[in-house]
Amino acid sequence: MSTNINPDGLPNLQELEKLANQFFKSVKGVSQNEPAPSFPANGFSPVGSQISDIPTGNGFADGLFSHHPQSVPVSGVGASPSAINQGDVINLNNPQTSFEDPGLTATHSPVSQPSVNPFNITDLSTTSFNALPYQQEQSFEHELQQVLSQLIQVPPVPQIPVKPEAVATPPSFYFLKSFPAQLTVPGNTGASGLVKPPFDVNIVRQDFPILKEIVNSKQLVWLDNAATTQKPKQVIDRISYFYEHENSNIHRATHELAARATDAYEGARKKVQQFLNAGSVNEIIFVRGATEAINLVAKSWGEQNLNAGDEIIVSHLEHHANIVPWQQLATKKDLKIKVIPVDDDGQIIIEEYVKLLNPKTKLVAFTQVSNALGTVTPARQIVSLAHLAGAKVLVDGAQSVSHMPVDVQALDADWFVFSGHKVFGPTGIGVLYGKEDLLNQTQPWQGGGNMIVDVTFEHTRYHNAPGRFEAGTGNIADAVGLGAAIDYVTRLGMHNIAQYEHYLLVYATQLLKEVPGLRLIGTAADKASVLSFVLEGYKTEEVGAELNKHGIAVRSGHHCAQPILRRFGLESTVRPSLAFYNTCAEVDLLAHVLHSLKK
Ligand code: PLP
Repeated sequence: MSTNINPDGLPNLQELEKLANQFFKSVKGVSQNEPAPSFPANGFSPVGSQISDIPTGNGFADGLFSHHPQSVPVSGVGASPSAINQGDVINLNNPQTSFEDPGLTATHSPVSQPSVNPFNITDLSTTSFNALPYQQEQSFEHELQQVLSQLIQVPPVPQIPVKPEAVATPPSFYFLKSFPAQLTVPGNTGASGLVKPPFDVNIVRQDFPILKEIVNSKQLVWLDNAATTQKPKQVIDRISYFYEHENSNIHRATHELAARATDAYEGARKKVQQFLNAGSVNEIIFVRGATEAINLVAKSWGEQNLNAGDEIIVSHLEHHANIVPWQQLATKKDLKIKVIPVDDDGQIIIEEYVKLLNPKTKLVAFTQVSNALGTVTPARQIVSLAHLAGAKVLVDGAQSVSHMPVDVQALDADWFVFSGHKVFGPTGIGVLYGKEDLLNQTQPWQGGGNMIVDVTFEHTRYHNAPGRFEAGTGNIADAVGLGAAIDYVTRLGMHNIAQYEHYLLVYATQLLKEVPGLRLIGTAADKASVLSFVLEGYKTEEVGAELNKHGIAVRSGHHCAQPILRRFGLESTVRPSLAFYNTCAEVDLLAHVLHSLKK
């Protein structure tokens, strides 16, 4: 335990205030131009886990980060797009190289904003702190120490053992010179009028320990985010904390740890509810993942409500998880499955969808974002057309929740499913959202403990949702971890994430298009961060293996979406998929390796 922690477990306020004031005084632009704000020792942390609690417009990167010496390239292989702050003209047809990025140097002088308190300290009195004791200790004391130590001594860029040829070939051969207009966020312009980025990717990356991993003597470049996402320290620590301080079975005991574990688990449910904007926590059921959620609906509601001759519509874009359960049900109950076609860009053809709808349509099940192509489907439109036809709708959100804000009430789907591991949370936990009445009208698919009100040998009465669908001991710790992941992305801001990733996708698309012989599969106007392609003269696994040699992780294969790949005459593609912690420098490296393959 640190010396800054009192025996009662609370931070030593005097010591922390001293450290905080030392910090503010040493921040360039504050100590000279502005009165150093007095730091309230209330558990607030300016960095990392609590950063977007700073009540600024975007909650991120404003003020503090532009002063922050941590703004150095993590990888040392180029600059971060998020730190680009150089004007507002973007020309993707003529990408520029080697721009100077002031946000990436420890010595730059940020634009001074004398009338603005860069830390918005005065607003802290209105901020509520629900932080756990460990968060307070870690985020405030530990991170502040970190910041201070870096102010005193700027750490060297980590020495990464790279092969000599990698050093010799500069990967940053393409770069955009300016910050795209679409990244303008209201309230996010500095005194100079320059657009400020929504967040600094180099700061964000420091939350993800695995991104520092060395593979094949190269720094890991994780571009397999559609398969699974990496976990921030906040999630990893939260799960550890659960096992160290809270672990118990839930709901069924009167002891202290049972109360803690139950609070943590039900707290996570509340976070999911808010994340999806569901009407009630009762609409949130914890399951193993998107696959289990779809199977739950098929094997409960589907079994109970569908009859021979009824029709289910899916789209051509579906992951196997949203095909196979319906097929199994169709075989069992003599149902018919119909498929919404897509055009050559991989976009749903709405006119064809409308033709498939009829009174026999009982269910429409489709993905909000295609995992294989990245297509964003017109989900709201598909849902309302289905409802007009009297059908229920299940939306597969496995690939959407990590890329865009989701509002299940606005979407109006009857069910919405996603997996925790695709949204920076743990594996083995996921969510089924369902409309409350519908859930309560549906008989549970599994029986056991936890889901009952009363059991006799003759009869069992079930709980209402969510309990009725959570038989047995669930994945308590990972549900709590998912709650931490939701906190994390919420602090970054889903709009910020969507904007940043859009920029990165546009950039990556442009670069990949310039690789000779590369064919992009999936060119929808509305796309999330997936770039499927094939490269003339190479098998997809050969491309994947070559990228792996350079530390770049991509998926090559059928992505559990064989029907859509076959629609394009393919059995497999190479699929880099991006997340908010990826950088233009990483995209440069990807393009560079592909170019060198073609040579
Ligand atoms: N749906 C889509 C669109 C997916 O991309 C995936 C996984 O890749 C799934 C469903 C299944 O998710 P899980 O394997 O986590 O259950």
